[in-house]
Amino acid sequence: MKIRVGHLYPDYLNIYADRGNIAVLSRRAAWRGHELEVRGLSMHDTIEPGAHDLLYVGGGQDREQALVARDLAAKAESVLEAAERGAAVLAVCGGYQLLGRFYRFVNGEELPGVGLFPHHTIAGERRMIGDILLECELDPGERRTLAGFENHAGRTYLDAGAEPLGRVVAGFGNEGASGFEGCRVGRAIGTYLHGPLLPRNPWLADWILALALAHAAGREPEPFDPLPDELESEAHAVAAQRARDRGGRY
Ligand code: GLN
Repeated sequence: MKIRVGHLYPDYLNIYADRGNIAVLSRRAAWRGHELEVRGLSMHDTIEPGAHDLLYVGGGQDREQALVARDLAAKAESVLEAAERGAAVLAVCGGYQLLGRFYRFVNGEELPGVGLFPHHTIAGERRMIGDILLECELDPGERRTLAGFENHAGRTYLDAGAEPLGRVVAGFGNEGASGFEGCRVGRAIGTYLHGPLLPRNPWLADWILALALAHAAGREPEPFDPLPDELESEAHAVAAQRARDRGGRY
């Protein structure tokens, strides 16, 4: 099956090798006999709801976010409709911030957001940097961990009742106080976890891929059979231990 990915602003939002997440999705799809077709959607490109099974957006410095924010906000309706129609969404750090309502810099300048995630972000003076470990339960009764690296000035405040991606075991997370990280709205996931995220968290790669494939096939998601993932599990264990040893300290 062909899985169509819309990669938002690959030329602006791509720090910490966030592009690597696409490479992982591509390999894991191919190992199951599927093909990932990736299309970059940047400035002045239209986003056609229904044309993509997965929308992906990476992280970026404040400067790059300021360059793309108004262009992205002008496409908010299309992003919201794409998600409503069942496309999967993965948004990392700066992209996660811009899919919320707004991102306000320390100087008070405010970047408009898409409003897909029920949160807003306000930059603080000190950056929250380091290894991070989360405990997640995206499928009821299935507790799993996510290990990554965070580097953000933004503090993201979820609305009351909003669903976080996970509980912080070690690290800062959304704003360094609530003990939660990221946000989930149906098939849309937002997180501060770089690394890139997916090479050391193969279960999440498969989880997102299964959603995108379901959208492409017009059916309900079905979990993939797991792959051996020895190297991935080792990378996860090393990152998780680093987070436990030193995550969440300025
Ligand atoms: N520029 C944003 C911040 O500092 C996001 C950073 C990032 O994508 N790593 O919070």
